[in-house]
Amino acid sequence: MDVLRFGSRGTLVEYVQLALTRAGYPELRVDGVFGARTLDAVRDFQQRNRLRPDGVVGSRTWNQLIPYLKGYTTHTVRAGDTFFRIAQTYGTDIRRIMLANPTVDPRNLQIGTVLYVPFNFTLVPTQVAYSSMLNAWIVEGLGVRYPFLRTGSIGQSVMGRELVYLRFGNGEKEIFYNAAHHANEWLTTPVLLQFAEQYADSYAEGSEIGGALAARLFREYSLYLLPMVDPDGVDLVTGVLTSGGFYNRARRIADDYSQIPFPNGWKANIAGVDLNLQYPANWEEAKRIKYEQGFVSPAPRDFVGSAPLVAPESYAVYQFTRAHDFLLTLSYHSQGEIIYWKYLDYEPERSREIADYFGEVSGYAVEETPYASGFAGYKDWFIETYNRPGYTIEVGIGTSPLPVSQFPKIYRDNLGILVGGMTQI
Ligand SMILES: [Zn+2]
Repeated sequence: MDVLRFGSRGTLVEYVQLALTRAGYPELRVDGVFGARTLDAVRDFQQRNRLRPDGVVGSRTWNQLIPYLKGYTTHTVRAGDTFFRIAQTYGTDIRRIMLANPTVDPRNLQIGTVLYVPFNFTLVPTQVAYSSMLNAWIVEGLGVRYPFLRTGSIGQSVMGRELVYLRFGNGEKEIFYNAAHHANEWLTTPVLLQFAEQYADSYAEGSEIGGALAARLFREYSLYLLPMVDPDGVDLVTGVLTSGGFYNRARRIADDYSQIPFPNGWKANIAGVDLNLQYPANWEEAKRIKYEQGFVSPAPRDFVGSAPLVAPESYAVYQFTRAHDFLLTLSYHSQGEIIYWKYLDYEPERSREIADYFGEVSGYAVEETPYASGFAGYKDWFIETYNRPGYTIEVGIGTSPLPVSQFPKIYRDNLGILVGGMTQI
């Protein structure tokens, strides 16, 4: 992790500030600027954690802050410990501890047992920029807080980042939602993560989500969420990746496209391949169209790659899909408030009907894909291969990356789709 100090700026500073607000400094502004107030809070935090109070966030201070981004810490049981006392010590809720340690009998705590202790806050942040790290921390944290979830990786990115997923439920009907195929559309990542947290919490509480009983969804469906298909690209766009060979190569690629802002206009993976132009659904036609537009080599967007599925991220999604039996897929993109449901003349059974339902509950427009972007996408390949409903959902309005201020409305608009992706099939 980068060393941060007074005067630092950016996404990692947001994470420090977010962690501090959760660690006892709720008044601190999460604005990505390491100013005097942040400095005071860091020093105080260091003192409380028996670190040298130099106000510099180096590896030791990061190590103490990261639990607040993962949402939990661990506690080794000592003589006299009870769940109640542990909850008090960490300022958390006893229910959270019980939930995270389902195999531990609170009436018979064994000295030396390592317990998960979830902190008493909602885990998924919606006011900070995302990164591969934050995504992985949250997936890990949700898995700890809600041990009835399963987590895993479907493969690795160009830079070796795990493509982490969450699985909900044990039902026969398999469903798949993915987000952030495109780097600068990373605001779609917290859409899936917030849904994950809400769904898990509803299940734990025995309550409903979006009008459906979570326990019933869990029983009937196996829902897979892949919140970040392009982790390297997201890191580039949000300023977490700012040096090294991969960064320098991306920077040089971008130099040839002066009309595309860098890094904000970057949609591709870190090697300059557009991950949603990689699937074998008339890839040749996508290539013809994009070459005609001038994207004939690695680019910030719209380069189809040297062949289908050469990008490890798209290949992993392809393999993951083939290893399952998904009845319906949602691919989250931004922007436009549009639902695309069709590939060429394929009209999978009930696909239009479900699209209309999604349109109704979200207020989004239901449209047919424009010809020039109608090939080699995940949805296109899914529909062509399985003849089942597959959708591209374009969230938000404006220019990607969308401002985080749009998040609350985006989530509200999409909750009905996220639940409906199960209940409608
Ligand atoms: Zn997109």
